[in-house]
Amino acid sequence: MEEFKNCKLCSWECGVNRLEGETGVCGVGVPEVAYCNLAQVLRSYSVTMLGCNFKCIYCNAYRISQYPSTGWFYRGYVEAPALASEAIQRIKSKMGREMGVNKLSFTGGEPTIHFPYIKKVVELVRAEMPGIGVGFATNGFMSVKTLQQVIEICSYVTFEIKAFNDDTHRAVTGAPVEPVLRNAEYLIKNGRSKIRAFRTIVIPGINDDEIEDIAEFIASIDPTVPLRIIPFRPNYILYYHPGPTRERMEEIGRAVSARSGLENVWWGGYYPVESARRAVETAQSLEGMQHRGAKLALAYSRLAGCISTTRNCGECPLRANCPAGLKEPWLLDLEARAKPGAKLKSSKSESEPEPKPRPGFEPG
Ligand code: SF4
Ligand code: SF4
Repeated sequence: MEEFKNCKLCSWECGVNRLEGETGVCGVGVPEVAYCNLAQVLRSYSVTMLGCNFKCIYCNAYRISQYPSTGWFYRGYVEAPALASEAIQRIKSKMGREMGVNKLSFTGGEPTIHFPYIKKVVELVRAEMPGIGVGFATNGFMSVKTLQQVIEICSYVTFEIKAFNDDTHRAVTGAPVEPVLRNAEYLIKNGRSKIRAFRTIVIPGINDDEIEDIAEFIASIDPTVPLRIIPFRPNYILYYHPGPTRERMEEIGRAVSARSGLENVWWGGYYPVESARRAVETAQSLEGMQHRGAKLALAYSRLAGCISTTRNCGECPLRANCPAGLKEPWLLDLEARAKPGAKLKSSKSESEPEPKPRPGFEPG
């Protein structure tokens, strides 16, 4: 934990003693945990760390990333051995085994600002579970020294590039782009096998004309690196800014795929401006609800897995283990298109592909 005493873990290189309560740009002293969870989709024990060295105006986790200034309170500092034994216990638990959890993953906020702590937790867990995988999701602003250690201990890395031009990157995140591009190149050249994917979020009118530049930059280093292009969802300072339409996502995805030179480009999703088609179709056939709005609301629940025709959870036999969960509207529409007689896109999947497990090793 010595690195916290003269903290230069990321490219801000603040040089503050975080163990004595000093804070740098990230505003965080000792490493603090927001929460942990078993993540079914990722088959992972996921640790969400507090704080971030960026201030992205669209951050969907801003109550975590902008800690402590947001006034929310979380778990806080947890001794590394305590977090490690908790992780082992939960991975081995009945729920962990049923989910097939085989990895630890670290996200935030920005996990690199706590890297020495994360490294300690990983060492302790691996002492008991040598084959456990380690996933890491980052904004790419760490120091090269930190990046070298990320490559060393992680099984897969998800690396986000938020803009290509320096002024756009600074306007979106509050930080320059040069360290991010430097680290992207370093990671590709020195840790290619650890890359799960690069990702970039499309913000209409802000960075949407820089996605091709990002893709060409990656392709100029290694055209086999996967790039995931994801739609912005209105949040935080951009709460009233629109997300990209389906047409704009298609336009960007096809252009990047055709022109950048990258071999593995995935894009999907859009910002819905109207009700999901399948929910509207389902609502038309529903009985048990009288009003138009009630039928549509019931349709969404039904499509998400709810078995009730009355939405009376107090009488539901599955209420202790409710099967209904989040369903993205574009997935609802995809399923509508997948019905017999409907046309499906052939170029790519609408749901982000699951990572292929790598030897020894999860997504961000
Ligand atoms: S992690 Fe980065 S922003 Fe935070 S104190 Fe260290 S160098 Fe500064
Ligand atoms: S880097 Fe990620 S966690 Fe940090 S402010 Fe930006 S979007 Fe939020």
